[in-house]
Amino acid sequence: MTDFTATRRAFHLPAGITYLDGNSLGPMPVAARDRVAAMMADEWSEMLITGWNKAGWYVQPRRVGDRIARLIGVGPGEVVMGDTLSIKVFQAVSAALALRPGRRVILSDNGNFPSDLYVAEGLARAVGAELRVVAPEEVGAAITPDLAVLMLTEVDYRTGRRHDMAALTALAHRAGALTVWDLAHSAGAVDVDLAGADADFAVGCTYKYLNGGPGAPAFIWTHPRHAEAAQPILQGWMGHEAPFAFDLGYRPAGGVERMRVGTPPVIALTALDAALDVWDDVELADLRARSIALTEAFIKGVEAACPDVTLNSPRDPQRRGSQVSFRHPQGYAVMQALIAEGVIGDFRAPDVLRFGFAPLYNDLDDVGRAVETLARVLRDGLWNDEKFHDKAAVT
Ligand SMILES: *Cc1c(COP(=O)(O)O)cnc(C)c1O
Repeated sequence: MTDFTATRRAFHLPAGITYLDGNSLGPMPVAARDRVAAMMADEWSEMLITGWNKAGWYVQPRRVGDRIARLIGVGPGEVVMGDTLSIKVFQAVSAALALRPGRRVILSDNGNFPSDLYVAEGLARAVGAELRVVAPEEVGAAITPDLAVLMLTEVDYRTGRRHDMAALTALAHRAGALTVWDLAHSAGAVDVDLAGADADFAVGCTYKYLNGGPGAPAFIWTHPRHAEAAQPILQGWMGHEAPFAFDLGYRPAGGVERMRVGTPPVIALTALDAALDVWDDVELADLRARSIALTEAFIKGVEAACPDVTLNSPRDPQRRGSQVSFRHPQGYAVMQALIAEGVIGDFRAPDVLRFGFAPLYNDLDDVGRAVETLARVLRDGLWNDEKFHDKAAVT
């Protein structure tokens, strides 16, 4: 059994704050602060350029990728770190598209995070492809024989709705298409099983449920059956077969390593590496069970105590990730008032109150405080104050 009291202790959680926004930015693992300080003191300062080999900076993107692999249900050597998620979306979709010559359609849904859609739209324009966007519940029916790539985010960033990755991947494969799954709200939140779903490509960020810190690098996974065939469009020197040969022509590195682009963010990767220590003793089945327990308790509590809000997430926990949202016509001011009372969630336009539950450090006491505070903000009309309505004044 995973010891969630121990995992919670691994984080710096500011006094007086109930933090339910780890789906935007995870809190700081105490070990990250010390590891980055040590890296500065022992590696950068003393080793200078020799740190690339001596301290293992060069192989860090693969080594850290191996630590993420277990959390998304894939094997060692299949994941590499670097860049931001938007870049990794571009790489995965462009590589998948190139593996389906003769097909030009990318399918996604309107619950996807805008950046993924923007990237796909720009890519489609550049290569003469077409981006089709349908409602999340219509994705299955929209998988047609002309499809090249199905590009979906598994867990919706607003509602928490979780797609059935295995079923949609099977449908896409039957239509001859490849899949790109964005795990931004899945990795570290739910029991992701890419290999079990037989997915083709996956990407995700590490500053949300993986607690790598602001600007932590993204990851990309290529199924081994595609790893030697995938042609990156962003051909950078770090993805070259022999970066230090400085050849004028590009030859892709073997496997997923070709998805590297330029110099890795070593300091950020060091913080992430430390943040991943806490996962070593976490079982994904325990993580999922705890996530469901927390979100179920929150929905039950809010619905009993807050008649003015409506559930905006699937009621069935099997169809939900690790976040819950509710709607309120004055959602923005309600969230500002809630934050002023020490409960940090976030607001998503037009009227969504969003709460992320991170099983590593959130517990039932957090749920209780969030329910009690939200009920008080609504019952006593605390949100109905000038200062909570001025969007320019509040950050
Ligand atoms: C958070 C998130 C992003 C953010 O992308 P960055 O390039 O890291 O800023 C992209 N896509 C999804 C689905 C997200 O949830």
